Amino acid sequence: MGLTDIRTRIEKACKEADRDPASVTLVAISKVQPLERVEAVLAEGQRVFGENRVQEAAGKWPDFKARFEGVELHLVGPLQSNKARQAMELFDVIHSVDRPKLAQAIARLAQELGSCPDLFIQVNTGEEEQKAGILPADADGFIAECRALDLPVKGLMCIPPVEETPSLHFALLGKIAARNGLEGLSMGMSGDFEEAIALGATHVRVGSAIFGERVKT
Ligand SMILES: *Cc1c(COP(=O)(O)O)cnc(C)c1O
Repeated sequence: MGLTDIRTRIEKACKEADRDPASVTLVAISKVQPLERVEAVLAEGQRVFGENRVQEAAGKWPDFKARFEGVELHLVGPLQSNKARQAMELFDVIHSVDRPKLAQAIARLAQELGSCPDLFIQVNTGEEEQKAGILPADADGFIAECRALDLPVKGLMCIPPVEETPSLHFALLGKIAARNGLEGLSMGMSGDFEEAIALGATHVRVGSAIFGERVKT
């Protein structure tokens, strides 16, 4: 439990997978956490954070960014096209690009703003109706479409179904990424980041194992 413990476990998982620990970025998911917990983790030196709601992130991160140098902010939750501008101004990386309409909105805004966050395409590997993400069968086409729009696609992201073995989903995501020449793999959370690292994760998104259980709202 806690940042130091998670970093140690990431290093160990990298060693076992014969990987360089520098090839795995820990994204500390700070959604819903009390501000003092987030501040404590900032004070411990963590600089890469993730949030799942644009509005919530806009409420706390401008202040933290002003007080702590070098913060990198990742959006890991679903993004509505009408919030794309605000998201692009606030976040350095967006993990949840999952449909043509959103990709087109981001492309238009990138032209206008003259910059674009790094992007991950979310794949609904479990083909769950309630979950965001492009279906695996549509992933190759959508990746090509994003590239045709000149979007900086760095990799793929998935959230496996809770009741299934995550490794199968991590392996599928890795396969889709490999055949499309993508390096980035955003996969693995508190309960399964070590398995994700074994299967090539470059970004693990860990929340409760760092900050403690989220306070229910
Ligand atoms: C909340 C969240 C996480 C972190 O979940 P934990 O189980 O607390 O580690 C990771 N990814 C996404 C997309 C999330 O919404």
